[in-house]
Amino acid sequence: MTKAIINAIIFDFDHFYNPGYVLFSDTIIKVGPMDTFSASAADEIIEGRNHLVMPSLVVGHTHIYSAFARGWANPETFETFPEILKKQWWKLDASHTLPSLYASGIVSAVDHVKNGVTTLIDHNASGTIEGALETLKKAVVDDVGLRAMFAFETSDRFNVDTCIKENTAFIETNQNEKTSGHFGLHASFTLSEDTLKKVRRNLNGAPIHIHVAEGKEDEEHCVKNHGERVVERLARHELLTPDSLIVHALFVNEKERALIKKHRAVVALNPGSNMNNGVGFPDFKALKNQAIPVIAGNDGLSMGITQEYLNLFFGSHLHTHDPQGFDMTDLQKVIDDTYAYASRRLNIKLGRFKKGYKADLLMHPYVPPTPMDKTNALGHLVFGLFSSFKPSDVFIDGHFIVHHYKVSDKTNRLYQNASKEAQKCWKRLEEGRVNLEFENNL
Ligand SMILES: [Zn+2]
Repeated sequence: MTKAIINAIIFDFDHFYNPGYVLFSDTIIKVGPMDTFSASAADEIIEGRNHLVMPSLVVGHTHIYSAFARGWANPETFETFPEILKKQWWKLDASHTLPSLYASGIVSAVDHVKNGVTTLIDHNASGTIEGALETLKKAVVDDVGLRAMFAFETSDRFNVDTCIKENTAFIETNQNEKTSGHFGLHASFTLSEDTLKKVRRNLNGAPIHIHVAEGKEDEEHCVKNHGERVVERLARHELLTPDSLIVHALFVNEKERALIKKHRAVVALNPGSNMNNGVGFPDFKALKNQAIPVIAGNDGLSMGITQEYLNLFFGSHLHTHDPQGFDMTDLQKVIDDTYAYASRRLNIKLGRFKKGYKADLLMHPYVPPTPMDKTNALGHLVFGLFSSFKPSDVFIDGHFIVHHYKVSDKTNRLYQNASKEAQKCWKRLEEGRVNLEFENNL
């Protein structure tokens, strides 16, 4: 079954046709200007007039478990980043059971895909550990239809052996075009030497997914307790496998960046979350200067990624006091690195309209009010569309997941059920049925 979207503005961050068409089945077959289109090539024709058609998007780091934070009236106050973790996120994640994780997965997948995201990289923590990743996969991948990668945040807060088993079991049984696993680690300051040694013994070459230097306290804790910096510690334990995801990296120094580069790891930036937590802002230039691939995530703060592109764009200008401290070529590089990373991990091709690439794409209503061509199309996205990005139609493997702004009735019913699970989660929080015994000298 082949589909063709015709008479549209086609932009894949490289090629531009207006009016153009894209012909696809589960992968892209052909793309080009309308005067080269032959209607006989398509089983189904979709009118794309007054729409922009582009590849759908990837979120490089998120926390599905935080979906139920929305509207939760947490009575706590916090002054430092460790306090935000202890009094907010560690409470919320500990309250999760498998049914509430499943419901969070449905909410996150539906909200993301309605915002044009079709691939998620998740970092999970939950009171119930065993089966957590398969439960999330069932919701996000099997039932809503997205691509997603999962990891459990191994941490001394939890039973470490169970965390390790949860990661290894998922990694071993899930490596295909729709899903794969990372070995999840929370952050250096919640991982003892014994835990890291155990992780090393069970890693088997898998990429790790870990928060690094999100707050300055992570580095301070590491220097004080281990006499070295966080990335040095990970390297000493031989945990920096290729494609490892180093999340945030706000306070890493030059030597740590060199280690990240040497071990072919990738940095995931989440500037909106950093601003919200008041911890600082990533030094994109320093990462760029070392030629470290940088991808963008939302840290669970939003259910999209275009807002994060804007946060990175505007925030970097403020951070560097330079209105050109992050430009369109930088943004293009982040978007390209994100597609390249997801493509490698799932062993597919994402992010371009070229023969053989996956037909993961979206249609967004757009009538350019000024001339638009290949040279300024990204500018149209940044200043015209990314601040309120709502595609009308989203496809994965060439199938509609969002059609005229709606998901399927079946998915919608699952979504409407989620609020009941959120209420149960909040009840567990209110009744204090959450184990918060973990303390360390932060
Ligand atoms: Zn995170």
